[in-house]
Amino acid sequence: MKNKINLRLAGIAILAVLSTLLAITLVYYGLFQRQIRNDLAVSAKLLKDTHYFESADINPANIDLSTNTSELRVTWIASDGTVLYDNDASASGLANHLDRPEIIDAFNNGVGEIVRQSDTMKQNTFYYAILLDNGTVLRVATNAQSLPAIFMSVAPVVALLILLIMAICIALSHLLTRQLIKPIEEMADNLSDSDLQSPYRELDPFAEKLRLQHADVLSAAKARQDFTANVSHELKTPLTAIVGYAELLEGDMVLEDKKHHLYEEIEKNAKRLLSLINDIIRLSELDKERSPIFEEINLAEIAKDAVNMLEVNAKQRNIELTLEATQTYIHGNREMMRELIENLVQNAIRYNNPGGKVEVIINNTDGPKLIVKDNGIGIPDADQKRVFERFYRVDKSRSKATGGTGLGLAIVKHIVDLHDARITLDSKLNVGTTMTVYF
Ligand code: ADP
Repeated sequence: MKNKINLRLAGIAILAVLSTLLAITLVYYGLFQRQIRNDLAVSAKLLKDTHYFESADINPANIDLSTNTSELRVTWIASDGTVLYDNDASASGLANHLDRPEIIDAFNNGVGEIVRQSDTMKQNTFYYAILLDNGTVLRVATNAQSLPAIFMSVAPVVALLILLIMAICIALSHLLTRQLIKPIEEMADNLSDSDLQSPYRELDPFAEKLRLQHADVLSAAKARQDFTANVSHELKTPLTAIVGYAELLEGDMVLEDKKHHLYEEIEKNAKRLLSLINDIIRLSELDKERSPIFEEINLAEIAKDAVNMLEVNAKQRNIELTLEATQTYIHGNREMMRELIENLVQNAIRYNNPGGKVEVIINNTDGPKLIVKDNGIGIPDADQKRVFERFYRVDKSRSKATGGTGLGLAIVKHIVDLHDARITLDSKLNVGTTMTVYF
């Protein structure tokens, strides 16, 4: 990040320096050129106004302008283009000037001017020609640095300036990145704060996402810890009972007619252990499940199977179990759906009163729907939110006595989530419970 900021800052600075330099040089050079042309025009007019070159008795051989005007070249041209006088070279050596644009202009329009580049490109020569009253032309010229030459002359200063700016940029970017990063580092250190504030408004969504993820990670870790503690506790209870009864039997400390009861207790606790372990394994399987096999399944058919299986169970408790199903097809996993219906119906039977009723309804009005309704003991308002948690039971002893593990609804919730469905719970204490799954 530091390097990136370094590079960008230096790049911007260099660009700024170069473009400013270019602009200033161009403007300056324009002014400079205009000044030279003005000066030349003034000099030419001054020379013309002296009428020196118009006097009848002038002898070009006697003219001497070289000493005082070494910066200024003066050329006098006759009306046929012959060079009569030049203060820089001998006039006889110079070619006819009638082909020079500034001279042609002067003969035609009274004045003519032009800028010519010297061979080396370093210098430009400015010419200004003026027509004298006697039909000859007087031309003045001067040399000035060309644009590339001016550029070259400032190059060392520019290079130095760029070096200086780069040094400032590096120092500045160090300072800036430290200032920019510090609040972000502080934010990272305080991720667990619930009122975590992002240092920059632009980072608000990022900070929010980070905070949520952090909270998720923490709550997942806590859930895992709780679950492990709960599992150990739940397994320990029946195991302790089994060991206790076995020791009594082994020590021959039980009357013959009481032994049968102990065998029954051992069997009951072993069965409880087994169903606990089964449910735990099932939950961890569902936890791992990412893409279960989904197919077109008929909810009515699956519900019929589940109800048939639990019929005996319901009868034993003197509960009336009914199914009212229209053919309803969903995209889902057959095995999981059977498990879901069985768990819900089993609960409706388990937490019911003798002579009670359990209705299973499947229909497709406003989308596929499964309803399991009972007129049993109901769930107190305060517990309704938590019954889907692992090992959460409203009445622990009743759940245990009826073979519950406290994991049934957690499994249901898992299956519902895997099917992108939604489950609602509507319950009133001593009136009954209705569970609805919307697909
Ligand atoms: P369990 O194995 O104890 O039944 P579940 O996860 O299936 O565990 O249910 C959690 C708790 O929710 C149960 O212990 C019970 O207190 C309550 N519960 C679930 N279904 C019903 C219902 N139909 N009527 C009343 N209480 C229910």
